[in-house]
Amino acid sequence: QDEGQSSNGTDRELRAPICCILGHVDAGKTKLLDCIRRSNVLGGEAGGITQQIGATYLPVENIRERTSLKAEVAIKVPGLLVIDTPGHQSFSNMRLRGSSLSDVAVVVVDITRGLERQTIESLELLKHSNVRFIVALNKVDRLYGWKTCPNAPIVKALKNQSDDVQRDFRWRVTEVVTQLMESGFNAALYYENKKIKQVVNIVPTSAVSGEGIPDLLLLLVRWVPEIMVERLTYVSTVECTVLEVNEDKDFGTTIDTVLINGALQKGDQIVVCTKQGPVTTNIRYLLTPYPMKELKVKGQGVYKHHEEVKAAQGVKISARGLQHAMAGTALIVVKAGDDLERAEAAAVHEISKIISLINDD
Ligand code: GDP
Repeated sequence: QDEGQSSNGTDRELRAPICCILGHVDAGKTKLLDCIRRSNVLGGEAGGITQQIGATYLPVENIRERTSLKAEVAIKVPGLLVIDTPGHQSFSNMRLRGSSLSDVAVVVVDITRGLERQTIESLELLKHSNVRFIVALNKVDRLYGWKTCPNAPIVKALKNQSDDVQRDFRWRVTEVVTQLMESGFNAALYYENKKIKQVVNIVPTSAVSGEGIPDLLLLLVRWVPEIMVERLTYVSTVECTVLEVNEDKDFGTTIDTVLINGALQKGDQIVVCTKQGPVTTNIRYLLTPYPMKELKVKGQGVYKHHEEVKAAQGVKISARGLQHAMAGTALIVVKAGDDLERAEAAAVHEISKIISLINDD
């Protein structure tokens, strides 16, 4: 079952894993995100990368190109969806609920500082919500005497360093491994990790010169489907989380959502959790921002309209009655033949759950 095969032997369709970036302030979360978003191609837009709502989608072709992956190496997922804004309200709501919309997290640690207060908080949150993670041991270029090897795989970059730098690197890795152990996690450099299903992978990176970024991307699209094939199997049942409620001058109140599984269609009946109870409405527009290079076309507006959006994607929904929608709640879709009363009851349950948790906090 772990090989991406269903019981009858046919290949499963997997969706893109959803990844969020956590860590202490100044560890390099924003910089790392910028680095992931751009391609090696100077100037031009990163091939195929699209800015989503609150998220960035990297198609697997882009990752192959950036990591010079051989064509015969299979990748089972179509891409990677990276959540842009770790500080979202919905994240604290979700923290309260003890669940998360992310399949996997990248915890950024500054190699020159080791684990810090917010790193430890992030680790607690991940442990509590049972979300697997990778440690990006960032700022390797800050090690004294580091010779920059732009965008190189980390093992190659390390081979280029003096004995002193390698020794310093080893020492710092050992420190972080010890600190992680104190937080209850076994961890190892990913290329020395013999138990990738149990032991946390550490990827040394530089968000400035790009060393180790290929390793991080490959680990995300290869290791994640390896350890959670069930979770990543595409199903038609919609799973969608509200990130944010926005006023838009063209579309009125909209909700930014992450579609985790299934597909949304224009016109779909939805039940939204609001402070005033469940609101049943219909999707008027399904929107995503235009890719950067298309943004300049005159007269088309900022958003691209879709008839259907398939998971995993970030998507903006325009509909009536969204004013009091609650961040961090599930969006429930009522397809033909589904029971509307049951969907509304599920929304009531969802609302009371989130309200009681907010009050407890
Ligand atoms: P955040 O608070 O975790 O989002 O951290 P930022 O991404 O804003 O980074 C904090 C500071 O560290 C900024 O000045 C970045 O330019 C710098 N920084 C981030 N990553 C690296 C890195 O890999 N190498 C170096 N030398 N500086 C970095």
